[in-house]
Amino acid sequence: MNKASLECRHISLSYGSTPVLRDINLKIEPGEFFALLGPSGSGKSTLLRLIAGFNQHQRGELLVDGQDISGVPPHLRQIGMVFQNYALWPHMTVWDNVAFGLVERRESRDAIRRKVGAALDLVGLGDYARRRPAQLSGGQQQRVALARTIVIEPKLLLLDEPLSNLDKNLRVQMREELKNLQRTLGLTTIFVTHDQEEAMTTADRMAVLDQGILQQVGSAAELYDYPQNRFVAGFVGTANLLDGEVTAVDAAGLNFQAHRLGALRLPPPAEPLASGAATLALRPHQVSIAAPQDATDASRLWLDGQVESAEFLGEFSRYRVRVGELALLSDHPHFAGVPLFAPGAPVRLGIDPRQLRLLTA
Ligand code: ADP
Repeated sequence: MNKASLECRHISLSYGSTPVLRDINLKIEPGEFFALLGPSGSGKSTLLRLIAGFNQHQRGELLVDGQDISGVPPHLRQIGMVFQNYALWPHMTVWDNVAFGLVERRESRDAIRRKVGAALDLVGLGDYARRRPAQLSGGQQQRVALARTIVIEPKLLLLDEPLSNLDKNLRVQMREELKNLQRTLGLTTIFVTHDQEEAMTTADRMAVLDQGILQQVGSAAELYDYPQNRFVAGFVGTANLLDGEVTAVDAAGLNFQAHRLGALRLPPPAEPLASGAATLALRPHQVSIAAPQDATDASRLWLDGQVESAEFLGEFSRYRVRVGELALLSDHPHFAGVPLFAPGAPVRLGIDPRQLRLLTA
């Protein structure tokens, strides 16, 4: 199977005077399972359609295996795309849907029989060849759409919100299937999603987009642990974001004035840092919660607060705690027999200063 690399170099696209993609630079390695992640309207589909050849960028280069394909029409790009609504032919059988592209290319009957059979087996639909799309479940229809695309042996596979039409349980199952299929094929695959959990659980790496600007590229753990800016910290996983100012930096640490909370003394930054506006990002599981008399660990920074609400989630409970004028989230592991803190209870929130991430963008 082909394995192509894809590179976007300074790609920009506007609709009229509205910029939709701004100076996108991105390299996707051969065989990668790559996600374009971002909120609605961030430009993900525009970028995917641009790679397929349905949108044309005004500036920049689009390289497949080092060759600029900017002017190449979609049908000559050897790129397969699965649309969000699958776009199956309703009047054709599953077999004919999958065979369609091969028939158009005038491949031999034997080749078509062999390739369609193999593609249907690969997606587990060998026994469904004679059915029509309306006689299949949503998940099965999606597998037909996948089979129809991979049967033409594309260099790149593009998937537009591949799981959004499926109900929650099926989505989780299909995410696993999609990942296995991608591993089996080894095909460079790019998919669009607005669902960070979907991107984190399936993709090798992902690019986070907001307002047409590529915010950060990395693995799920890299983006989660080391977000480069406030947007990524808030969009990938859940975060407490404390805006404020760095007022002083010295060899022993720094002073951070958190808006509506007050002064915090933090350890010295890992990288050189100037005074000025910054945001502290803290994951809820990094914020411990304790009754005031139990808040004794001197390595932690303790903040006095009051429980506003508690959500029991089984493995852990998520508390919303009022600290000054702020509400912070704290996830607390749950064990049978240990009572939850009740709303209104005075508590202390413990922060490990080494887990803090200070963002200046
Ligand atoms: P996403 O896939 O992240 O939800 P899109 O790529 O669909 O975002 O859209 C990005 C922006 O481009 C949106 O503001 C959208 O309104 C605008 N847009 C998309 N397609 C067109 C178009 N054909 N003409 C004008 N604006 C468009």
